[in-house]
Amino acid sequence: MSENYDVVVIGAGPAGYAAAIRCAQLGMNTACIDKSVDNDGNAVLGGTCLNWGCIPSKALLDASHKYVEAQQHFADIGINAGEVSVDVPKMIARKEEVVKGLTGGISGLFKGNGVTALHGTGKLLANRQVAFKPHDGGDEQILQAEHVILAPGSVPVEIPPAPLTDDLIVDSTGALNFDAVPEKLGVIGAGVIGLELGSVWNRLGAEVVVLEALEEFLPMADERIARDAKKLLTGQGLDIRLGTLVTGAEVKDGVVQVTYQDKDGDHEITVDKLIVAVGRRPYTENLLASDSGVNLDERGFLYVNDLCQTDAPNVYAVGDVVRGPMLAHKGTEEGVMVAERIAGFKPLVNYETVPNVIYTHPEIAWVGKTEQQLKADGESYNIGQFPFAASGRALAANDTQGMVKVIADAESDRILGVHVLGPQASEIVAQAVISMEFDASAEDLGLIMFAHPTLSEALHEAALGVAGHAIHMVNRKRK
Ligand code: FAD
Ligand code: AMP
Repeated sequence: MSENYDVVVIGAGPAGYAAAIRCAQLGMNTACIDKSVDNDGNAVLGGTCLNWGCIPSKALLDASHKYVEAQQHFADIGINAGEVSVDVPKMIARKEEVVKGLTGGISGLFKGNGVTALHGTGKLLANRQVAFKPHDGGDEQILQAEHVILAPGSVPVEIPPAPLTDDLIVDSTGALNFDAVPEKLGVIGAGVIGLELGSVWNRLGAEVVVLEALEEFLPMADERIARDAKKLLTGQGLDIRLGTLVTGAEVKDGVVQVTYQDKDGDHEITVDKLIVAVGRRPYTENLLASDSGVNLDERGFLYVNDLCQTDAPNVYAVGDVVRGPMLAHKGTEEGVMVAERIAGFKPLVNYETVPNVIYTHPEIAWVGKTEQQLKADGESYNIGQFPFAASGRALAANDTQGMVKVIADAESDRILGVHVLGPQASEIVAQAVISMEFDASAEDLGLIMFAHPTLSEALHEAALGVAGHAIHMVNRKRK
């Protein structure tokens, strides 16, 4: 006999768990299947983000940033901390505690909202049936659902030149669990994950070389911001080598020999550990029976329309497994949208205002169009920029690197993009997202009162600067 649900969700990452919770809140009988287990083999909810992604990486980024502050910058502000040292096992254990608290929190939210958590694997069959194979060795069950939401997420891309090993050539998951600081660390890929994990270990004392095939640094970010960020990260000790294609990596005598090519020819470096951070791919292994009715697109993502509907009636897909940026908050919004649409409401996800953040220090964050995109589109625009070096709060905090850049339409003054390199850029960009969601003009943002002294005032000043009205800097003469 099959068990009946209004909704079965496959995957309990930020996309799937949010969808499941919202469905249950809306009165639907909901089950959420997830197959993840922790290092001890215990079933865990929360997906990549909570277990091996956003949260553990931020725990290590924050800890390593505090170490740098204590070691290098406390003396500047009159604090003598004595000799500061790192206890890597303790730092990793504390990161695990943070993860445990949050994944346990999802279990609590499932219980509190009445979502049935099913630990094991799920496979979509025809006619909205889902085969569930529990982890506990029990028999496979067939669940019948009115609606199915697929949220199986993504996994790291592996590349033939750098096959993973147990502990020397690792992906992002392995890089969150080193037991000591490697003396020399290689990172393949100067994307978000490569820069964040490279920063962690660089701050803790590793000599880090980042090998990136592209000639351009952070091509998706605003050019000016990317250029300034590269300078700052290089200054911190990240040896970022652009235009270098890794052609091989192999373990020899307990170290890793990495070969790469650049315009000058072939090179070799030896590192103690190598992190492969060359992107993530949608994870669809064993997810779909051949007659499920769900199709993939040409890049291997589950094919969906703007409403996250797949080709199978009443089957939806959300999160990293579908087109769009692979970000937790994008998946969460899709999950919530689908739940509400199933319940008969009509929300949409606004893909124009997805915030992007790279949690280096200073952080890099943006929303909307970059200047180079607008130029390529032939749009006319005005720019306001404000450096944190002129922010009272940033000066008080001894954290003055970077700037805020606001780009607004030359005619309507509507904000088209906001780009931040600086302390708390991730928090500042949220204000830009709100402004853009409300279709604000730069003038609107300039007319709003910001508390003084705050880092957010840099956004206010940059918005004022669009029309040449910034108060705390000399404005560029307008034509
Ligand atoms: P996932 O979180 O991948 O969850 C999918 C879940 O489904 C997994 O638990 C998986 O085991 C399970 N599953 C898959 N198939 C099946 C099946 N057949 N049966 C049962 N269960 C199944 N994003 C940000 O927004 N901010 C960040 O700061 C950030 N930092 C990151 C740092 C790192 C190191 C990494 C690796 C990623 C980071 N990301 C970040 C990306 C973020 O983790 C993903 O965008 C997010 O987790 C995607 O959510 P999801 O729900 O689509 O999938
Ligand atoms: P992201 O997809 O943002 O995580 O970034 C991954 C980065 O890895 C991209 O910028 C790729 O150009 C880079 N990359 C992929 N393969 C290689 C390789 N063999 N050598 C160097 N860089 C690579």
